[in-house]
Amino acid sequence: MTKFIYLIGCPLKHSVSPELQQAALDYWGLDIRYELREIEEQLLFSVVKDLRGPQSLGANVTVPYKEKVVPLMDRLDDLARVIGAVNTIVNEGGALVGYNTDADGFLATLHGVGFEPRSRVVLVLGAGGAARAVSFALVRQGVSVLMVANRTKVRAERLVGDLVRYVRETGLVAQVVALPWEGSWLEGAVRRCQLVVNCTTLGMRHTPDEGKSPLTEEMLCDDVLIYDLVYNPRETPLLKVARRAGARTIDGLSMLVYQGAAAFRLWTGKEPPIQVMFQAAQRALAEKGG
Ligand code: NAP
Repeated sequence: MTKFIYLIGCPLKHSVSPELQQAALDYWGLDIRYELREIEEQLLFSVVKDLRGPQSLGANVTVPYKEKVVPLMDRLDDLARVIGAVNTIVNEGGALVGYNTDADGFLATLHGVGFEPRSRVVLVLGAGGAARAVSFALVRQGVSVLMVANRTKVRAERLVGDLVRYVRETGLVAQVVALPWEGSWLEGAVRRCQLVVNCTTLGMRHTPDEGKSPLTEEMLCDDVLIYDLVYNPRETPLLKVARRAGARTIDGLSMLVYQGAAAFRLWTGKEPPIQVMFQAAQRALAEKGG
């Protein structure tokens, strides 16, 4: 019987997860199809409920549902519980278990370029599902200061509140603050920090915010590392202005592959063929104009 894994989100036109996951499934000769479920929020409950069926191995969850699926899980993996967001669902014999592989995917890429988060000052842009994974990953790695700026202030404050509680409970030392989503505050924060991570959807292809950058060239300097989670287009508006300002940059593609590889391992128990996945994602992005 053919089994299925789904990608749940909206919009999904930008995504290359189907290509990279299907390439890995085909590499192992598995009778599994990876399919899109582009749905409005009112269908989320029933689509997640259906994941408990015998043909389903589970799902990936993306924009804007990573936090919204948390209460729909039967169980949460420890890291997903701490983060408060799920990007991978595994159907374990009719029970849905929520995992978060974004945090490890993010860190794998950061370590890959030799950036050590310990004792660093970091600015996170955004406070959605991806920002939660990135922020908790950075705090757990021992950053000294984490600043979170988000368009919707209460969402940034909620994330910061959760982080402060976690830091206190675990005996970590990070100072975590919410900043206003305003140019002068963002510029001041950029000048203080060594790493900026864009976890907003600004710049993402096939959205109304395609072509937009959260920061301008004037706000940037050459001694900061700019990491954009948006991977389609590969060179985002933020990465363009960062390069013009002389800053080092990381695009979102390698995180996409690493988080996808960890999810693949959870669904199949097989070793993910990283190079195959990377090449499939690059090909798909080129075809989709990225
Ligand atoms: P999400 O939960 O829907 O959060 C979206 C975030 O973007 C929120 O902070 C939202 O702010 C902000 N935002 C949306 N439109 C904005 C605008 N016009 N101006 C300023 N801020 C805006 O989505 P997510 O799951 O966190 O994903 C965020 C991005 O990260 C997406 O582009 C996704 O593809 C990318 N991502 C990439 C990887 C990877 O592997 N490379 C992994 C995870 C996520 P409000 O709270 O004000 O709405």
